[in-house]
Amino acid sequence: MVERLKSAIRDVNDFPKPGIVFKDITPILGDAALFRGAIDLLCETAGGKEIDKIVGIDARGFIFAAAVADRLSAGFVPVRKKGKLPWRCHEASYALEYGEATVEIHQDAVKPGEKVLLVDDLLATGGTAAAAVKLLDKVGADVIAVSFLIELSFLKGREKIPSHEVKSILHY
Ligand code: IMP
Repeated sequence: MVERLKSAIRDVNDFPKPGIVFKDITPILGDAALFRGAIDLLCETAGGKEIDKIVGIDARGFIFAAAVADRLSAGFVPVRKKGKLPWRCHEASYALEYGEATVEIHQDAVKPGEKVLLVDDLLATGGTAAAAVKLLDKVGADVIAVSFLIELSFLKGREKIPSHEVKSILHY
């Protein structure tokens, strides 16, 4: 399955900016067997542990995290870009190439001590995931693992999440 998933991912040159090679995961989403296979593998990153909440990161992370939550009979919690969540939020900022970005979580979305799996489609520099982990630390979550479908290993993003277990399905 890992090889089938890898061959379905489409490299798009110069998107969203010149010089970037974007990994397009939509061919996986559009193929029932591949999508199910990706969700199976992401579910395995929970290591058979009981999980209370699957936390997904805006926006492609939602697709995978929601399916994993359904499969593992866990709740789903969104981490969103600033200004999108309607209730009281915690926020965490991280550096971008130019400027910074902020992500938010509802303050009551995860209770202290709840077991959480954080899911996103892709780990690049690790800034987004590290900010999401900061939010989960703020709410007192017990983060079982931080899971990605794709890890761009050469960017060393996992070094920004040193205190948690990082699990990726496909490595580049
Ligand atoms: P990071 O913060 O540099 O690790 O970037 C990771 C975030 O950017 C994730 O939420 C991804 O959805 C998104 N991202 C970065 N590069 C790609 C890509 O090539 N394909 C899909 N998503 C990407």
